Amino acid sequence: MTATDTSPDQDTFTSVDPATGEVIATHPRADEAAVRAAVARARTAAAYWGALDFDARRAHLLRWKSRVVADSAEFSALIHRENGKPLDDAYLELLLVVEHIDWAAKHAKKVLGPQRIAPGLLMSNFAARLEHRPLGVVGVIGPWNYPVYTPNGSIAYALAAGNTVVFKPSEYSTSVGNYFAESFVRANPELPQGIFATVNGSGATGAALVAAGVDKIAFTGSTATGKRIMAAAAETLTPVLLECGGKDAVIVAADADLKAAADAVAWGATANSGQTCAGVERVYVDRSVRDEFVAEVTRILSEVKPGSGAGAHYGPMTMPSQIDIVKRHIEAALRSGGTAALGGPESIKGPYIDPVVLVDVDEDSEAVREETFGPTVTIRTVEGVDEAVALANANKYGLGSAVYSRRRGLEIARRLRAGATSVNSVLSFAAIPGLPFGGVGDSGIGRIHGAAGLREFARPHSIAVQRFAIPGMALLSYTRTPSTVALLRRLIPILHGRNK
Ligand code: NAD
Repeated sequence: MTATDTSPDQDTFTSVDPATGEVIATHPRADEAAVRAAVARARTAAAYWGALDFDARRAHLLRWKSRVVADSAEFSALIHRENGKPLDDAYLELLLVVEHIDWAAKHAKKVLGPQRIAPGLLMSNFAARLEHRPLGVVGVIGPWNYPVYTPNGSIAYALAAGNTVVFKPSEYSTSVGNYFAESFVRANPELPQGIFATVNGSGATGAALVAAGVDKIAFTGSTATGKRIMAAAAETLTPVLLECGGKDAVIVAADADLKAAADAVAWGATANSGQTCAGVERVYVDRSVRDEFVAEVTRILSEVKPGSGAGAHYGPMTMPSQIDIVKRHIEAALRSGGTAALGGPESIKGPYIDPVVLVDVDEDSEAVREETFGPTVTIRTVEGVDEAVALANANKYGLGSAVYSRRRGLEIARRLRAGATSVNSVLSFAAIPGLPFGGVGDSGIGRIHGAAGLREFARPHSIAVQRFAIPGMALLSYTRTPSTVALLRRLIPILHGRNK
């Protein structure tokens, strides 16, 4: 397979079809000067875009949304080609994207519009207002696994909040990233340039964006890169939103609907070749239902096949170097006493990896501790919910999670250390635009999606307007008299002295 050429000293780089290695495009690489120029254009555009009211921005964003829908066949084909995922999965990704653009466009005014705040008794002569201002220019750095959906969780929300965006797509999904930005321009040709633009390249271009004076960096990718970005951003106190890796656990309780749980685990572990940040990587199943559950997951996955044609369930591994990590984890799992209920190292066939089910792997194995990002799953037998919760929580990551239980789903969900939990489904939280998405621990900092996702890209601006002066109550002045404080000494015990 020909890898995407990412050597940083070349002026151009290529993106390739991961199934065939065929070069599909050559892109100019943005150096530091080009990144700074893009940020300068975005800064100029921010003066225009940030001054529009919420209704005007909403109209532009909804036009963009319908442009994405109109172009979805062509866009899906490009995602299929550059990322490798099946056409229908590419279409489903776009469907989620338009749902999120729609939500951000329609909720920005309610979440970020001016609000009156009660001033409190002592300040009752004031009108208090909370308003939100855009940050300015947001730098978005994205991964390749969901090359539109994932960065859009920052892009659509940053735009709806009144910011302009400079987006550095992954070097493995550059054509897709550019198509997305161009669709905004195609939908809104009368707008000034630079409201949503891309800079192309690999890590060095991303690093240049972090150092280019943007007002926030919204990063999605691996935890290792997230840490490097946070350290670099500290130099200029540039705030960061970090959406990083995961090692999501599913708990299958004794009272679970086993058929439904097995179906969801099989799909959640292998869809998109397992290259899903909140995909299923670990399962903790109650001993009483373990054999039946493992047999059902194995039965389903023995019918699931990767490929590039119309009937394939999932595609090739997008990034060649990930194949080595998957292989290492399978071998580590088997070395540490685990058994393969389905597949093994021989499941790796070039860019394609058949599903692999690993049972009762040691919890200290890197196959359980580290993100695998491939179509594999570990299933461990536990002696009940308490052990399942303890093991699920004993991981440095805390992104998504899921619980299968007929009666105790919500109760178990509340005990999980994760940014999100699905009960009796997997990954559903990521498809509900109003629900914030993000993790704890090594999974990152901050939230995309929902009201919290809009607030990430706005600066609260508190305004206190004195409507009239209260004689003798000039608290914030040297004209304050002893009788003012005497009055307060009588008032405060009445207001706050009782424990009610
Ligand atoms: P990656 O960290 O290798 O790269 C992500 C992006 O960062 C790319 O655009 C890359 O060019 C850029 N980059 C690399 N070095 C940089 C640097 N020093 N400064 C600035 N930018 C730099 O990740 P990846 O392989 O593209 O994506 C897979 C990872 O992303 C997995 O760990 C997955 O879990 C995670 N992910 C997380 C979420 C989430 O929402 N939490 C979503 C999707 C993927």
